[in-house]
Amino acid sequence: MKPQDSARSRSVWARLWPRRLGWRLALGFGLLLALMLVALAQASLQIRAMTGLTQRFATQDMQRLLRVQALSLYTEGASNALLRLMNAPREHRIPEYTEVDERNRRIDGIVGSLDGHLVDPAQEQTLQRLMAARAAYFKAFIATVDEIEGNDPKAAMQVYVAQVAPALKTMLMESNALINRERERVEHQVAEAQQRFEQLAIWVAGWSVLAIVLALVLALRTTRNVVAPLAQLEAVALRIAAGDYSHPVLATSAEEVDRVGQALATMTGAIATREQEIERLAFRDPLTHLPNRTFLLEPVTGQRAGNNCLMLLDLARLKTINETLGFATGDTLIKEVAQRVETVVKRAASSGLIGGPQPVVAHLAGGRFAVSLRATDRPTVESLRLQLDQAMAQPVLCSGHSVDLSLAYGFADSPQGAPRLVATLMRNAEVALHVAKQAAVGFAWYSEAQEAARLSHLGLVSDLRLAVATSQLQMWLQPKFSLKTGRAVGAEALVRWQHPQRGFVSPAEFVPFAEQTGYIGLVTTWMLGEALRTLALWAPVQPELSIAVNVSTRDLQDPQFCRRVKQLIESHGVEPQRLRLEIVESGLMQDPQSSVAVLHALRALGVQLSIDDFGTGYSSLAYLQQLPVSELKIDRSFIHRVDALPGTQRLVKTMIEMGHGMGLTVTAEGVETEAERDTITRLGCDVMQGYLGSRPLYGEALQAWFASLEPVEYAI
Ligand code: C2E
Ligand code: CA
Ligand code: CA
Repeated sequence: MKPQDSARSRSVWARLWPRRLGWRLALGFGLLLALMLVALAQASLQIRAMTGLTQRFATQDMQRLLRVQALSLYTEGASNALLRLMNAPREHRIPEYTEVDERNRRIDGIVGSLDGHLVDPAQEQTLQRLMAARAAYFKAFIATVDEIEGNDPKAAMQVYVAQVAPALKTMLMESNALINRERERVEHQVAEAQQRFEQLAIWVAGWSVLAIVLALVLALRTTRNVVAPLAQLEAVALRIAAGDYSHPVLATSAEEVDRVGQALATMTGAIATREQEIERLAFRDPLTHLPNRTFLLEPVTGQRAGNNCLMLLDLARLKTINETLGFATGDTLIKEVAQRVETVVKRAASSGLIGGPQPVVAHLAGGRFAVSLRATDRPTVESLRLQLDQAMAQPVLCSGHSVDLSLAYGFADSPQGAPRLVATLMRNAEVALHVAKQAAVGFAWYSEAQEAARLSHLGLVSDLRLAVATSQLQMWLQPKFSLKTGRAVGAEALVRWQHPQRGFVSPAEFVPFAEQTGYIGLVTTWMLGEALRTLALWAPVQPELSIAVNVSTRDLQDPQFCRRVKQLIESHGVEPQRLRLEIVESGLMQDPQSSVAVLHALRALGVQLSIDDFGTGYSSLAYLQQLPVSELKIDRSFIHRVDALPGTQRLVKTMIEMGHGMGLTVTAEGVETEAERDTITRLGCDVMQGYLGSRPLYGEALQAWFASLEPVEYAI
């Protein structure tokens, strides 16, 4: 058979062989049953035929053989009986006659019964010859009897020898021939029957073997058709259990198994969709659709092998935007930043700037994003930052507002480029981001030195008590000017620390730690004393000037604070409204309820209150309205380059309008250029503070500045 022939016959077979297991089993077992029935019918026919044969053999053939044998015996007996008659005396002849007659009658009876019942024509001829010999014998017998009755034994003997004996001999011969023939027939029939029995045995054995082979083939095929696809199903189920959802559809030869396979595929699809949904809910941020913090910190998803660098990105002023332009605008900004960051990072990965596994861009919270990547060197990361900054240059237009985007960055990598836990990198990047924001620089790398600096600050703080006692602190004053008149309206008091060993220490460095340890109270009290002392000096010349002292959140939590302020004011004999207290917006939110109460108590003393660093905190407008403040100080990050940033101008304008709406004086911090000043003036700002007006002043410089002020006519 050629290969294509075998393939064709296979395909024919495949077409005929049903695909449903049920049909296959029915077909197989039906075939087996049909085979058994045919075998049974055939066997019963054979047995019936053999039963007929046996019956005929017993009722006809054997009977005939026996009769023929009896004929032979009677013929011999007839001869003997005749001889005895011939030799018997007359008085004894009667029984002999009876004997001879009996024999003759028997012979006649047998011959008569055989006549017409012999099947073989040759036998029939033999019988005819026998009957002829019988007729001759009768004739001779009568003649013999005549001689006997004539008392001529000699003549009787002669007739006997000449006629009776040959006739009897012929009869005997013919009957023997009949016997032989019948015996042959019987033997032949026995042999035939035996052969038939053997044939039947072979036949039954053949069918049995055929049925067994068929049953075996059926069992094998069923096993192949059921067990093999079931094993495939099992393998697929195990794969699904292991989380491999690829190619679950089976192509077996059994329709039912394929249907189960399709059901599995449907189930797998449903599981995969649900898993994706669960994963999406657990690991995706719904706003940006970016991975979230959980994703990043999760060992399986976030800890990409080989990622050794984490960039933290912080969108500046998000809360202010939320407050002033609404949360929808804030959300639009976050989405826009997410998209731009993702685009830049993808481009950097595909251009080969970043190697290793695909970087992960995650949205952590609010305006906070993280990029986890493999960085070979720091310049690469910094060039990625430049690309990100470029991507942020275009302001975002949302609901009619053009909003500028500004990012601060904290970077953390691992020494020698070894992979690190994302949690560690994240913590370090937070420290770096904090440093970057504090120093008002664009970005910072985490370093052990930052950690050391933190620790050294702790040491510094313990020196603070001594600093207060030994006059290492100085109060510098930074003047504030009215934008309408250009005149000085007051000054902000800024602390400076001349450390005997360390030299000048910036408040940005020690104030946060002094706040954490509670030592800030000492500083505030000292500064309040200095400010009030100065106010008392100024009052005769410039009674309108005020001095603002920065108050920490920790001060507001101190139950003695209000009383202390009152005592200080009274002891210096200063009009309370000349003293301002600046409270940072973010600090207020740590304990909004008690803050409100303390502020009201302070206001009740007659002291003026300002909200410092406005725009950087998280306060809601509704909350600010409850506060008894009179000044809003817009954080200097909004003022920096405000003239060149239309989006920021809108923000600042909204803030100013909001402040005016609440009846507050609005002050701009950190004004460094004339352009910035002109812009904020145009936007309606009331007061400015910054290097443009004056740097913080101390000592002689302060004296000189004070002396240069125009005297107030109605003073003194
Ligand atoms: P702040 O209250 O926002 O103070 C204004 C800061 O901006 C001062 O820094 C000032 O020197 C700086 N500054 C003023 N004009 C400009 C300008 O045109 N451009 C730039 N780039 N900066 C300008 P300073 O004195 O280093 O104080 C830093 C922060 O330390 C203050 O921020 C305030 O939060 C805190 N601080 C200062 N003195 C005290 C104090 O006596 N008590 C408390 N609790 N905190 C203080
Ligand atoms: Ca301040
Ligand atoms: Ca400020």
